[in-house]
Amino acid sequence: MAKARGRANVQFFDPVVASAAYDALVVESQLAQALETGAFELHYQPQLRSGDGRLVGVEALIRWHHPERGLLLPDDFIPVAEERRLMLPIGQWVLREAMRCARRWHAQGLELPISVNLSSMQFQQRGFVDSLAELLRQEQVNGAWLELELTERMLMDDLDEVKATLAQLKALGMRISVDDFGTGYSSLGHLKELPIDKVKIDRSFVQDVPQNADAAAIVQAIVQLGRSLGMTVIAEGVETEAQERFLRELGCEELQGLRIAPPLSEADLQLWASRR
Ligand code: C2E
Ligand code: MG
Ligand code: MG
Ligand code: MG
Repeated sequence: MAKARGRANVQFFDPVVASAAYDALVVESQLAQALETGAFELHYQPQLRSGDGRLVGVEALIRWHHPERGLLLPDDFIPVAEERRLMLPIGQWVLREAMRCARRWHAQGLELPISVNLSSMQFQQRGFVDSLAELLRQEQVNGAWLELELTERMLMDDLDEVKATLAQLKALGMRISVDDFGTGYSSLGHLKELPIDKVKIDRSFVQDVPQNADAAAIVQAIVQLGRSLGMTVIAEGVETEAQERFLRELGCEELQGLRIAPPLSEADLQLWASRR
């Protein structure tokens, strides 16, 4: 960095940069430890069908019970995990945990598909589909009990390669959804070539409807696109009654957000589901 700026440019010690690097190092070693001590937990956020209000799925969201800092949300540690290549073992833990949860629920008659967020590191890992198939076998879980959330970016690589990988995942019975839809640059032509089951409208658009005309137009376009391509459309980050009404009137099939429920621990999710 100092060199790139030129020799004549005197570099001062930057305590902010140094402490950020140090923090990342600390987080890295604590993350590795967290995997061993069982400090991660999945929370589950309900997804409702807007037509009849039925609970049709949940999204698994990782949390970290940090020894000193309390409950941490993914934005506080996923970036470091990605950077330090810890996302692979953590992602593997998430998949296994979601499978175990799905199996527990199925044993109790709660047949609720669980959506799992994938990181690009996992998706691009050589042998990822095989390791997933092996995990399903070990945990005795049907692929249809899970859904995988990928971002648009992850689908924008080599079309043939992505297509082949998604076809293998579909062959395991898994559904595929595109997360944070609208924020990337995926071309429609590209998407229609892929076996995608669901698109998730990004929260940044949902939060501005109905009052912002641009956001409203984008949301409407995504709902129509999804319908014409035969995909389910779900809105994420639904917080208000006005947003919910707007989405229902457009025909957006599924809703997720604080308006319905926050991400809940496994026990709280079961309680929530049984009270409905
Ligand atoms: P995401 O997949 O888009 O997940 C939705 C995020 O929006 C979650 O934040 C959720 O708690 C939050 N959210 C839900 N409803 C509302 C709402 O009504 N209003 C607002 N303001 N927020 C809402 P969270 O749990 O902090 O997760 C953030 C991101 O971290 C996720 O975004 C996902 O990209 C990533 N992530 C979470 N768990 C995992 C994981 O197991 N693996 C990977 N690779 N990424 C994960
Ligand atoms: Mg997601
Ligand atoms: Mg999202
Ligand atoms: Mg997001």
